[in-house]
Formats: sequence, C-alpha cells, structure tokens
Amino acid sequence: MRELAVVIPVYNEAEQIARTVAAVEAALGDCSDLRYRFLLVDDGSADGSWQAISKLADDKPHLRGVRLSRNFGKEAALCAGLDLAEGVSCLIMDADLQHPPDVLPRMVALWREGYDVVEGVKTSRGKESLSYRLLAGSFYWILERLSGFSFENGSDFKLLDAKVVAAWKRMGESRTFFRGMSAWLGFRRVTVPFAVGERGAGRSGWSAFKLIRLAVDAISSFTSAPLHVVTILGLFLFLFAGVLGAQTLANKVRWLAVDGFTTVILLQLLIGSILMMSLGIIGIYIARIFDEVKHRPRYVIAEATASTGKDSGEPD
Ligand code: UDP
Ligand code: MG
Repeated sequence: MRELAVVIPVYNEAEQIARTVAAVEAALGDCSDLRYRFLLVDDGSADGSWQAISKLADDKPHLRGVRLSRNFGKEAALCAGLDLAEGVSCLIMDADLQHPPDVLPRMVALWREGYDVVEGVKTSRGKESLSYRLLAGSFYWILERLSGFSFENGSDFKLLDAKVVAAWKRMGESRTFFRGMSAWLGFRRVTVPFAVGERGAGRSGWSAFKLIRLAVDAISSFTSAPLHVVTILGLFLFLFAGVLGAQTLANKVRWLAVDGFTTVILLQLLIGSILMMSLGIIGIYIARIFDEVKHRPRYVIAEATASTGKDSGEPD
C-alpha cells in the first residue's frame, strides 16, 4: 500500500477549492492500492478560503488544513505543506485546476515504476499575455545559462517520493525556489506532459512585482555568476582604462591635451553606471545573506483543522 500526501497551496480560492479536491479524489480513486490524504495550506487568503477548507476538513477525515498567519507566498506555503506531510511522499499541485487531475493516475503509475520525482511539464502555457511570455522566456534563458539546470516549461506540479521530500527538508535556505531546488536534488526523474488548463475561477495571485522578486530570488539562489560578471566587467574596463590612460598621457606629454570633455563625460557615464549596477548586484547577494543569517522561520502557522491523521479509505 502506497501513501501519498496531496499538498495544495491555497490563496483566495474559496470558489473552487472544493471542486479541486473533488476532482483530485475522483482521479486518485481510480488508483488501486493507494492511500492518500490532503494537506491544504491557506496562505493568508483574504476571502472565504479558510472557511471552505474548514468545512471540507469537517466532512473529510483524510483532509487537513492549516492557515498561515499572513500571505507568505506560494513557496512558503509549499514548505509548510511538505513539513506537515510527516515523511510521506508528496504530490504538489495548484488549487485552481490548472494542473489537470486527469494526469494523476499516470504520475502515480510512474512513481510505482520506481521514479522518485515525477514532474509535470507544460506542453502549452495556457493563456498568457505576450509580455508575460517574453519576460518568462528571458528569465528561463538567463537562469539556464547561469545555473546549468533546465527549467523551461517546468512547473510546481510534481510527485516527490518520501526520500526526496526528506532530502529537500535538509536544504536550509529560508527563501526557497521549489522548482530549482528539486532539480538540484537529482534522483530518478521522469516528466509527464500536461496542458495548462484555464483558471477555474478567481484570478492569479501573482503580481508582476511578486514574479520579478521570484525571478531575482531564483537566480541569486542558484548561481553567483552575476558577481563574477561584475569582476570580469571590471577587468575589461581596467584594460580599456589602461589604453585610454596611456593615450591621454601621451597627448599630455606632447602638449596635445585639448578639451577632452567628450571622453571625460563618456567615462563618467560608463564607469558610473557600471559601478552602480555592480553595487546593486552585490547588494542583492548581501540581502540574501542577511535574510539567511536571520534564520527566520519560512512561515508561521496561525491555526489548523483538527487532525485525525487518517488516510482515505481508512475506517473512522
Ligand atoms: N498561491 C499561494 N500564495 C500566493 C499566490 C498563489 O499559495 O501568494 C497559490 C494559489 O492558490 C495556487 C497556486 O499558488 O494554488 C498558483 O497560483 P496562481 O494560479 O495564482 O498562479 P499561476 O497559475 O498564475 O502561476
Ligand atoms: Mg494558476
């Protein structure tokens, strides 16, 4: 008998969380020899999501909900879910049915075959605006070049075996990038293609600002290459400065040093901008160090539904 915890981060999904749970139950009900339970993490929703989750928990002994004390972001909600799974294999999916439950039986079957990480990859990206597509595309391009891991079309739709979850928990960073960190872990992996569905109801909880922050977090948590780029830029600039300095001095010696304002201004602009960029990049990493050394918890749980600790199919 295999055991599975279905971890779902929930942020303002009151309208559809019950539907999502029902759809997952229907899909997993087809899998024989499987016991599962739900772990719903309410990421500080402002609508009636928590009431909806509490109601579901009352009806279903194999469903447990926890509410974070505020909106910590999806990454933190995922951490909370994985921590609560207590050493069981985890299936991670979104609450909005954009991760279609009908591929679940395939994922479970692959997991049974012995794969430790079954990853959903997007075949189409659903309805996304051109600007979002461009931004996402360039973000993945940079991240792949710098870190050497491929994330394009990756998603947080994943089934992780218990040993992978245990290994993941040993990664100590307080600001996580789930997709990247699970790629870093390795293990036997397989991908399952899925088409991103339409959002059932409500709207995406990601703002442009949140996405940019995730992108910066992802890059700075995965590679320190930007820091080395700064050094290399500095080196090039030093060579350039050497050539230009020699020329300037030669002119001076030959009494040819006329109004070199153009050069001065160009140099000022160039050096000024590069210095500021470099400082900014260093600042990003220092901010990360600052965040990490504080050792704050990744999330804070405000309340939880009464736990029965039962899986589906177990008698009351
Ligand atoms: N989510 C969350 N906290 C947030 C934003 C989103 O827990 O601050 C959850 C949300 O409820 C959903 C999943 O993360 O289950 C994916 O969010 P969404 O559908 O808004 O993102 P998208 O599909 O646009 O990437
Ligand atoms: Mg979505």
